[in-house]
Amino acid sequence: MPPPPRVGDVTGLVSAFLPATRSEALARLEAFLPLAADYGAARNRVVAGHENVSRLSPATRTRVLLEQEILAAVRARHAPASIEKFEQEVWWRLYWKGWLEQRPGIWTRYREALSPLRWSERARAVAAGESGIAILDHFTRELITTGYLHNHARMWWASWWIHGEGLPWQQGAHFFLQHLRDGDAASNTLSWRWVAGLHTRGKAYLVRRSNLERYVAPELLAEHPAGLEKLESIAIRDLPWEEPPAPRALEPSDPQQGPRTGIWIHDEDLSVERSPLSDLAPVALLATVPSGLWECEAYSPGKCAFLKGALADGAARASEHFGLPCPTRDTPALSEALVAWALEERLDTVVTLSPFTGPLADEIPKIGAAFADRGVRLNLVRRPEEMVVMNRATGGFFGFWEKVRERG
Ligand SMILES: Cc1cc2nc3c(=O)[nH]c(=O)nc-3n(C[C@H](O)[C@H](O)[C@H](O)COP(=O)(O)OP(=O)(O)OC[C@H]3O[C@@H](n4cnc5c(N)ncnc54)[C@H](O)[C@@H]3O)c2cc1C
Repeated sequence: MPPPPRVGDVTGLVSAFLPATRSEALARLEAFLPLAADYGAARNRVVAGHENVSRLSPATRTRVLLEQEILAAVRARHAPASIEKFEQEVWWRLYWKGWLEQRPGIWTRYREALSPLRWSERARAVAAGESGIAILDHFTRELITTGYLHNHARMWWASWWIHGEGLPWQQGAHFFLQHLRDGDAASNTLSWRWVAGLHTRGKAYLVRRSNLERYVAPELLAEHPAGLEKLESIAIRDLPWEEPPAPRALEPSDPQQGPRTGIWIHDEDLSVERSPLSDLAPVALLATVPSGLWECEAYSPGKCAFLKGALADGAARASEHFGLPCPTRDTPALSEALVAWALEERLDTVVTLSPFTGPLADEIPKIGAAFADRGVRLNLVRRPEEMVVMNRATGGFFGFWEKVRERG
């Protein structure tokens, strides 16, 4: 894991506004709606403030806002043809989620490769915004200070890291996850793999000077011109190809109550009141801040604060919905805190929305075993309509898109 990167001069950076709570996410969606029809033409440009894109990804990452809500809102406002590009991008996230969820071995392989890697001097310098390519260094500072990067900036940055510097893609991906407010195991890992040429055989993404000159706002590029010539001699590095595992179909799982059921709320899904859990009659609620886990992952202070804010908001909404207090427990040891809560509340069943493949889901076997030792059943629930969509992510995106545009 890298040390917290040193932040250089951030003068002039416009901090992107990223929604943490549901009301912020709804306001962001409302502000973006009139622009959705122009999105297809405007989205590729990297401009200060990022007004041409939605910046909704942090809200879908914590699920304070669901993709279906975003799609319903744009469809209610615009003719289908004018919003096709935006719809496609929203579906991309579910595609990546489904693709990885059906092949969790890809995540395990990535984590196993990441774990023994040590940070070289060069990797530290690039992650601290000292690559020598001023515009990429500007993006590094933007990522560290705001927790957001435009999609194009992510592609260029990852491509330079992998193909320009020859650094391990796994470290770059983890660096992103430490800072991005929307940091997501599926979108992040699979996008990095795609840039590296490991997702689609024979296809890698190469950053080009001409691409930056075309899509970065001229005034921004003029402020950071140094080192652009380095992008002229870059070539693709061929990384060893590994066949992905065959997809395994996902099963929906219904909530099952016991006489004393508790609902556990976590930052992977903060829309409990708009989920199959909403009709349950729990006796207790608990939201967890897994500080120990975040520390192991070396999440940045800004990211931790963002997630805590989202959790507090999700807990407040659940509390209101179920008419019960929903304390938030900040814990270095997640499974112990959950077991302590289950014992305090004399629970026989704990129900939660199943975290998708990623750091929190990696904790589930331990949590399940700790509950089982105390005679408590852990019930992981998935939204049935999402399982249908995710099961369509068996091949490439456009095959998936053809299926979902027809049937959802
Ligand atoms: C190397 C790399 C790493 C990335 N890491 C992440 C990550 O950790 N989490 C994450 O959510 N996205 C990730 N992306 C995808 C994409 O960059 C972001 O989803 C997007 O930039 C978010 O900004 P926005 O909400 O303004 O997007 P908009 O352009 O407004 O798009 C609307 C929504 O569509 C979805 N979306 C858009 N583009 C993509 C895409 N290429 N892949 C998946 N979903 C997309 C997002 O949920 C987004 O909120 C990564 C891309 C790359 C190239």
